[in-house]
Amino acid sequence: MPDAVSEQQRAKKRRTARDALSRLADADCPLPNCEGTLSRGEFKDTDAVVCPDCETPAVRVWGEEP
Ligand SMILES: [Zn+2]
Repeated sequence: MPDAVSEQQRAKKRRTARDALSRLADADCPLPNCEGTLSRGEFKDTDAVVCPDCETPAVRVWGEEP
């Protein structure tokens, strides 16, 4: 696949991932024994949605950045 096209797709994927993070923020923590609410944050220097109570990352955008 040509580099120009794959670069466009990577950029699009990053936007999609951020949208997904925005939707997930404010969701309840998935852990049954935690009543925290997920919020946008960072996990290991990556965009993520984490629970501030238990610090569990619910979703992480896996590194496509260089
Ligand atoms: Zn939690």
